[in-house]
Amino acid sequence: MSILIDEKSCLDGCTICDFFCPGDIIYREEKDKVAEVRYPEECWYCGICVDRCPVDAVSVIFPDSMKNCTTSPEIYMGNI
Ligand code: SF4
Ligand code: SF4
Repeated sequence: MSILIDEKSCLDGCTICDFFCPGDIIYREEKDKVAEVRYPEECWYCGICVDRCPVDAVSVIFPDSMKNCTTSPEIYMGNI
């Protein structure tokens, strides 16, 4: 699971991560249930859910392929 949500911290009635996730990966449709990571395999690790959660209830677990990446970002950005 790439995205973890702390069930004890998730606020009643909050839908911020559901609203902001650009990939429709997190859902908070029912008030009495915590936010649900419905499509973790489609997450692209942008971190918006972590950044926007008001109680720091969301954590991102980066895959080894990302943690061990040694490719310089300059290759993608070109000579700007
Ligand atoms: S933003 Fe945080 S508190 Fe709000 S629903 Fe998502 S995990 Fe819960
Ligand atoms: S890291 Fe980005 S894409 Fe992945 S669940 Fe969070 S907001 Fe959505």
